[in-house]
Parts: sequence; structure tokens; C-alpha cells
Amino acid sequence: MSIYWNHRVKNLSPYIPGEQPRQGGLIKLNTNENPYPPSPKVIEAIQKAAGDELRRYPDPACTELRSVIARRYAVMPEQVFAGNGSDEVLAFAFGAFFESAAGKQKALPVLFPDITYSFYPVYAQLWDIPFTPLPLAADFSITCTDYKQRSGGVVIPNPNAPTGQALSPSALVSLFRFHAQDGEGSSVVLVDEAYAAFGKDLEVAPLIHEHPNLLTVHTLSKAASLAGLRVGFAIGNQELIEGLCRVRDSFNSYTVDRLAQAGAVAALLDAPYYEEVNQKVIATRDRVSSSLRALGYEVIPSQGNFICIRSLQKSGPQFLSFLREQGILVRHFPKPRIADFLRVSIGTDAEMDRFLEACERFRAV
Ligand SMILES: *Cc1c(COP(=O)(O)O)cnc(C)c1O
Repeated sequence: MSIYWNHRVKNLSPYIPGEQPRQGGLIKLNTNENPYPPSPKVIEAIQKAAGDELRRYPDPACTELRSVIARRYAVMPEQVFAGNGSDEVLAFAFGAFFESAAGKQKALPVLFPDITYSFYPVYAQLWDIPFTPLPLAADFSITCTDYKQRSGGVVIPNPNAPTGQALSPSALVSLFRFHAQDGEGSSVVLVDEAYAAFGKDLEVAPLIHEHPNLLTVHTLSKAASLAGLRVGFAIGNQELIEGLCRVRDSFNSYTVDRLAQAGAVAALLDAPYYEEVNQKVIATRDRVSSSLRALGYEVIPSQGNFICIRSLQKSGPQFLSFLREQGILVRHFPKPRIADFLRVSIGTDAEMDRFLEACERFRAV
């Protein structure tokens, strides 16, 4: 606390990112990064962009990047917004589409799961948006019908993090329809597709043509191996995209730098490379999940590049510190119902074999 902080800053409880260790030699399975390198074409494009032109501001509209994204998802460039990581896009979306408590009418709460990406409540607080966390079912899935109530908006990560469970596109469509029903009372359904590439037929972005209240949010951090580049984007009808631009241009018009725009374009153009890389991640995830079950661990079925697992004998913190002693970093969320689970990002096959060996040893301690 500082006397110099205003009341808004005093009341924040900021997001705590997963550890980025400075020492080497650790197996890093704690922040859902892709274990494989980005496409060589991305590195080439960034190197080419790292020249004289850096004295100039980047294209604030990200014109080329947006047109490449538009082609990939069969939408128009006007239906695409690019930002500095999807965290920024999410922050802008909360600010643009969800009413604050100080808004004109009494604002209805925004709905999202109680166990989910922990940045959502932080954004809501930052913008003073009321929200209601809705409990996941006993099997950690999202109960779609719970979200069919009047609200200030809905945020669904699909697949959800840290559980890895996904809703079907048809269940999501029923939500878009429900929340588009009553004119003035209609609200935005935001689908965060950070991990959709690791699931089976989950992408709903092309459905924006039929659902004007749908905004999908995407990142190059996970499926495109570019967490260090900071590029994310959103797809939605033109009015939604203009809303995001209004917030961005009241904050910082140049959020995506020249190197990031160049690298992101190259990544989106090299789909075959990423198809191969991510198929490997999926195969490793499924293999490791079966091995862990055979060792007696509980594994929540996952459609992401991570798994959520639990020892039936020991607590989450005990499991966490054992793995840490073995040089393996994973993520623990000290929250009711998942405090005994660990979220484990899928690494290379060699890394996951070392992880499995550690899990085998842990049974004996
Ligand atoms: C990782 C993650 C993000 C953030 O992605 P960045 O583009 O790296 O900011 C957004 N949503 C979810 C659910 C995530 O897990």
C-alpha cells in the first residue's frame, strides 16, 4: 500500500503470471508454452524486419496481419482486431462491451466459470465491471444452461483453462442465440480460443457471420509457439471490432510493433508447420494422460496443450514441491476444488518421459 496510489489501484488484485525461471536445467511445464520452436519462416521474417524501418512507427491498423488472419478464418479484414497478446485484446474487450457498475443502467453481472483463466476477474475489477462466477460441474465441465440467464455478457474459454474441458460449437451457438434475443438486453458472448487448436473441431470464428454478438479471441502464444512475441487477435462483426479500436486508440495506437507484425504474418502463412507441431503435442498429451492413469493418477480429459492432474494420496502442494525438487516446474492454483490438482503443460516427449518417471517415484514417497 502507498499513500500515492489512487483508490482504484489500492483495490486491484493483479494477475500473478507463472514463474519464468532465470536458471537453466529445469523442465518448464508451468505456463502452457509450446515446447517446439516457431516456424523458421517466422525467424526469417523478424530478422528481415529488424532494419532501418524500425525508426518508423508500425502500421497502427496491422493491415497485412489482419488480411492474413481474415483469409485464414474466412472473414473480412474489418472483422479482425490485432493486439499485443490476447491478454491485451481481452482487456480491451472487457472495457468495450461489458457495462461498469457506474454505467447508465444498473449493470448486470458478466458471467464466466468459477474455475477458469484467472485474468478474467482481474479485468472485471480493473474496469469496475460486476461479475458472477458460475461453478463448474462436478466433472469440471461448463454447464452451458447456467449461462442462459440475463447478464451483462458471457466469457467462455474453449477449451477452458486450467481444466482442459471444452463445450461443443453447437452448445456455444445456443448461447449466442440466447444472448442475442432481446434487442437492448442482448449482450456479447466472448469465446477465448487460446487452446482451440489442440482440440477437435472447436473453432467458432466463422460463425460471426450469423451471430453479431460473438467475439472470438485468439493468441499466437500457445499454438504458434510465439509467447515471446506478444500477438493476439479478435474476430467479430465490424461494430465489435470498431469498439475494440475505440478503446485501443484511447490508450496506445501502436500496440503491435513492426517485428511482431512481421513474425505473426509469417506464422499465419505457415499453417502446415504448425499443424505438424501441434499434432505432436496432442499425441504426447494423450500418451501421457494414459500413462498417468495407469500409474493411478486422476487426469481430467483435456483438449488443450496441458493436463490437470491429481494424486489420490497426496495434496497438491506436496506434489508440487516434490516435482520442483526434481527440477520440474508445473502450475498450482490454491483455490477451492482444484487445490489438489496441478496443471502440467505438455512438453517434448523427452521432457514428459522425465515427468512420468518423477510421477512414478512420487508414488513411493
Ligand atoms: C495464455 C492465455 C491467454 C493469453 O495469451 P497471450 O496472447 O499470451 O496474452 C489468454 N487466454 C487464455 C485462456 C490463456 O490461457
